[in-house]
Amino acid sequence: MLLFFTLGLLVHFVFFASIFDIYFTSPLVHGMTPQFTPLPPPARRLVLFVADGLRADSLYELDENGNSRAPFIRSIIMHEGSWGISHTRVPTESRPGHVAMIAGFYEDVSAVAKGWKENPVEFDSLFNESKYTWSWGSPDILPMFAKGASGDHVYTYSYDAEREDFGADDATKLDTWVFDKVKDFFHAARNNQSLFSKVNEEKVVFFLHLLGLDTNGHAHRPSSREYKDNIKIVDDRVKEIVSMFQHFYGNDGKTAFIFTSDHGMTDWGSHGAGHPSETLTPLVTWGAGIKYPQKVSAQQFEDEFLKEWRLESWKRQDVNQADIAPLMASLIGVPFPLNSVVGNKILLSILSILKIAQ
Ligand SMILES: [Zn+2]
Repeated sequence: MLLFFTLGLLVHFVFFASIFDIYFTSPLVHGMTPQFTPLPPPARRLVLFVADGLRADSLYELDENGNSRAPFIRSIIMHEGSWGISHTRVPTESRPGHVAMIAGFYEDVSAVAKGWKENPVEFDSLFNESKYTWSWGSPDILPMFAKGASGDHVYTYSYDAEREDFGADDATKLDTWVFDKVKDFFHAARNNQSLFSKVNEEKVVFFLHLLGLDTNGHAHRPSSREYKDNIKIVDDRVKEIVSMFQHFYGNDGKTAFIFTSDHGMTDWGSHGAGHPSETLTPLVTWGAGIKYPQKVSAQQFEDEFLKEWRLESWKRQDVNQADIAPLMASLIGVPFPLNSVVGNKILLSILSILKIAQ
């Protein structure tokens, strides 16, 4: 009888204690069982481009002369990779968008009380699971993935936020700064043995956060010459970076590329709410492990975009924004970020993009 009572007390105590363990500790400290895909990783490294505030239609549509504003990305869609729409959730802000993409979950809206700047809770991320991540971009975005990371393996390079004139006269500088720094970085890696061996490791990530479009969209609206010209510049510099990667790694075919955005922008230059102009973002993926374009004679979508963008013959693969984290984890063979919302439906959407026997 006493034994039974003691046992009962013990069980209650364990249950009681577990509440504190579940709710009040960081998942980074008390890890759940890491989840891998059972597939061998096709890529050794991943390059993630996030064009902040880029609408899907602004990237995919043709201009008045029938030309693409992003000819390089369009050639990828037609000849090399997979494309579609990444559906974001409200609030369509930079921070929750990046958390969904890189950590794989939709952040607690209570983060809004902290201005979307500080972590309400610590969370795991693709960058934390990587061997090394190097990231370039806004000081408002990069630190949130470096701060919670265990160990010294997530590196950030930001322009000085205090210099208010930076990018004020021409927001595309926010993007060209990033591309220039990435080029300098690889140039330095050629002459630095320890950096050279680090960038040649597997499970490494390079993250290029491009704030120019968001800034131009707010200042001039997405229909402006400034916003549209900024897309051209980004496309052109992405092309240059891709060829630099291929050259640096001797065309080893082990680099995967992802191009997307964190949220869109309304016609009047705002974001935060749930209008399709804000929630529909582009997703273009190519390189190691990604399926080649699939030509189709017919495909069913509720919207009219395929015709409008003249992309009806190339299979469109839509995802939810938080699917991008497990997709990237599968490509380089690291565990899914511990907080990511991985279910069977998400795995199916990832599998339709990955190049594997089905
Ligand atoms: Zn943003």
